[in-house]
Amino acid sequence: MHVILFGAPGVGKGTQAQLLQKEFDIPQISTGDMLRKAVAEGTQMGRKAKELMDRGELVADDIILAIIEERITREDCRNGFILDGFPRTIPQAEGLTRLLAKHNMPDFTLIEISVPDEVIVGRLLNRGRTDDSEETIRHRLEVYNRQTAPVKDYYKKRNSFVSLDGNRPIEEVYKDIKAVLTSQVA
Ligand code: AMP
Repeated sequence: MHVILFGAPGVGKGTQAQLLQKEFDIPQISTGDMLRKAVAEGTQMGRKAKELMDRGELVADDIILAIIEERITREDCRNGFILDGFPRTIPQAEGLTRLLAKHNMPDFTLIEISVPDEVIVGRLLNRGRTDDSEETIRHRLEVYNRQTAPVKDYYKKRNSFVSLDGNRPIEEVYKDIKAVLTSQVA
């Protein structure tokens, strides 16, 4: 099962990815989590990424694609994986397509989770991460609309694409995600 959970920060991608990971025993791959780990460990990449992350800007595509290639070619990804927070730009989506061909992996199902911006701002303010000040949140939403939302069109042309209402209880959204995925496996 190869899934991309797509949507703005705060729509619940991470929460849903964790539920899927538990139930289907395939790893959640969150570029945001991997970058935060690099920041916490003080690696060279982490130091470079930190400033951009604190400002709500995106980290360079080549760095992200290198992290992804290293991760998706590990043994635990052989039955699939859930991408959460990647791809976030058209070059990342194109890079992912190249990686899938290179490593003989199947195409993805892309599931968009959508939530109104004002609901997102409220959710993220409650989360309290260092990049969750109101100013940074609004900037991240702008970056999402400008750089990430166009990625949808890339996938609409190529893969199965489903959009779900994420402004509902976690279990209801999860039920819909599972229905999409199981209907495709059947
Ligand atoms: P997230 O936890 O997915 O919201 O990511 C937190 C921050 O990490 C983002 O605001 C970006 O600065 C950076 N980041 C995470 N994933 C990516 C990506 N795929 N491309 C570029 N930057 C990313």
